[in-house]
Amino acid sequence: MPPISTNLQTVVARVAAAARAAGRDPATVKLLAVSKTWPAASVREAHLAGQRAFGENYVQEAAEKIAALAPLNLEWHFIGPLQANKTRLVAESFDWVHSVDRLKIAERLSNQRGENQPPLQVCLQVNVSGEASKSGVAPQEAATLARQVAALPRLTLRGLMCIPEPTGDEALLRRRFALLRQLRDQLAAEGLALDTLSMGMSHDFDLAIAEGATIVRVGTAIFGERVKPLATA
Ligand SMILES: *Cc1c(COP(=O)(O)O)cnc(C)c1O
Repeated sequence: MPPISTNLQTVVARVAAAARAAGRDPATVKLLAVSKTWPAASVREAHLAGQRAFGENYVQEAAEKIAALAPLNLEWHFIGPLQANKTRLVAESFDWVHSVDRLKIAERLSNQRGENQPPLQVCLQVNVSGEASKSGVAPQEAATLARQVAALPRLTLRGLMCIPEPTGDEALLRRRFALLRQLRDQLAAEGLALDTLSMGMSHDFDLAIAEGATIVRVGTAIFGERVKPLATA
C-alpha cells in the first residue's frame, strides 16, 4: 500500500476527473476521508497532505481522536449508526452528522448541541435499497422527517445521505444514487433548500459523482484495508 499522501493525491485526482466527466466543477465535490479504525497518526498524515474533513463511525473512538487532534482545527463528520445514548458526545464533538434517520435522534442532537457552538450540520440517511437495507428513513417518509428536522433550533438540515446495499451491479448503484438525487430535488421543490448529497465510497464514488454527489466518503482508497474488526459502537 502506498503512503496515505500518495493515495490521497490519487483519490483527489479521481474525484476531479469524475466531476469533469460529469460536466461538473470539481470544487462542488467535497472529499470526506473516512478514518474509522485508523489512529490519530493516520489522520495527522492525511492532514499534512492537505485533507481537512474526516469521517468517523464509532463515537468513543472518534472522541479520542478529536480531542488528540484539536489543535489542527479539523472538520469532523459522524457517519455511523447513532444510538440515543451516544448522541451527547456526537452533538458536542462533531461538526456534521450524516446518519440522522429518526426524529428522536435529531431532537436529542439539537437539545445537546452547545449554546456557544455553531448549529450542527445534518443529513438524513435515506434507505434507497428497500428491503435490502434496514438503516435509513424510507424514501416516502423523508419529506416529513426533513420538515421536522429543519425546524429544530440547533441543527441545520443540509441534505441527504445513502449507503446502497453492496453490489457489483453498476446500473443498480446508479439507480440508487439517482433516487437520492431525485428525492433531494423533490424536497427542494417543496421549499427545503438542501445543498448536500452525501453518497459514494471507495469503490463507487465515481458513479455517485456522475449522479450528483456533493460529498463522497472515502476510507479504504486513502488509508488502506481496515484490519480491526468492526465494533458496534
Ligand atoms: C466505512 C464507511 C465509508 C468508507 O468506506 P470505504 O469503502 O472504506 O471507502 C463510507 N461511508 C460510511 C457510512 C462508512 O461506514
